[in-house]
Amino acid sequence: MPRSTVARIDLEALRRNYQTACRRAGGTQVMAVVKADGYGHGIGPVASALDSLVPKFAVACLEEAVAIRESGLEQPVVLLQGVHAGPDLAECAQHDFEPVLHSVQQLDWLENSDQLPACWLKVNSGMNRLGFHPDELAGVMARLEALRASDRLLGFVTHFACADDAESTMTAEQTSVFEQATAPWPGLMRSVGNSAAHFLADQPLYDWSRPGIMLYGGSPMIGKTGPDLGLEPAMSLEAPLISTRVVRSGESVGYGAGWVADRDTRMGMVAIGYGDGYPRHAGTNTPAAINGQRIRLIGRVSMDMLAVDLTGAPEAREGDSVELWGRTVGVDEVAACAGTISYELLTGITARVTRQYR
Ligand SMILES: *Cc1c(COP(=O)(O)O)cnc(C)c1O
Repeated sequence: MPRSTVARIDLEALRRNYQTACRRAGGTQVMAVVKADGYGHGIGPVASALDSLVPKFAVACLEEAVAIRESGLEQPVVLLQGVHAGPDLAECAQHDFEPVLHSVQQLDWLENSDQLPACWLKVNSGMNRLGFHPDELAGVMARLEALRASDRLLGFVTHFACADDAESTMTAEQTSVFEQATAPWPGLMRSVGNSAAHFLADQPLYDWSRPGIMLYGGSPMIGKTGPDLGLEPAMSLEAPLISTRVVRSGESVGYGAGWVADRDTRMGMVAIGYGDGYPRHAGTNTPAAINGQRIRLIGRVSMDMLAVDLTGAPEAREGDSVELWGRTVGVDEVAACAGTISYELLTGITARVTRQYR
């Protein structure tokens, strides 16, 4: 029998979260971002579950787009990071992949490619990771026109640096830079808007929005959980309780002997650790749940197991299933305890953990 350390994936919750994104996007079309193996949920099953709802997918790289085709899906797939080599452009053209062009090198590759895929042009509106500065756009567009690639250009994309912070003025500044930069080409489409932008009042989303984390139920907003925003967790991470004992007052638990019982404490060991992607930075008091009751971690997370305090769950027995995150304990809560964000926890679950779909 395999170990019952599993990530249960609720594909209906995923579909409802996508519909929430569509409602919040108003008349904007919504491409589903399924990069990084569907944020750890499994790109094939995730994309297949969204097939009847989603007009376009987005991923980081070519291999991820190929995985979508291998699942038998036919929607266009945007490559948010574009291609990493010239010959990939022909492959994009053949498979209806839409690379984002963000660098001069990618324009050079386009010049030497005998097949031109439909593309997007990335505008650097202030995040300063990738893309062309607004001053460079006219020159880039002239190059594309000379190539006769301009009729393969679908439109412009940009990405926000601070949309997770509803107090920040930067998103409005980036929006205005983007709007002015793209105004000379009103016939082309525009795409802004990660998940967070769906939760900002009066934020224009133009033709296409690009939600990722919210589809999986994670919060894109500082200080809010997914459920606070009307999102449902798509993943429940569960592992069995494999041992229980009473540690006596004054005894310690685990590596470093960092947690010491201040009274006799019934505790349990759970078969999951950082080798499964559970964050090692989650310390004592990080919440978990057993049989719907909230409990807490004690001591250090090991590679294959972690310790919990069962004081709050006196009925808990070996073999019971512990929820590390899911409907009782939100992934955003665990992320906060580990000093990170739900994105990192969800994408970090390793191949050792079986994904089960319903
Ligand atoms: C990952 C990504 C998204 C989705 O971001 P979320 O915060 O997960 O919604 C959107 N656009 C680009 C360019 C991305 O890289």
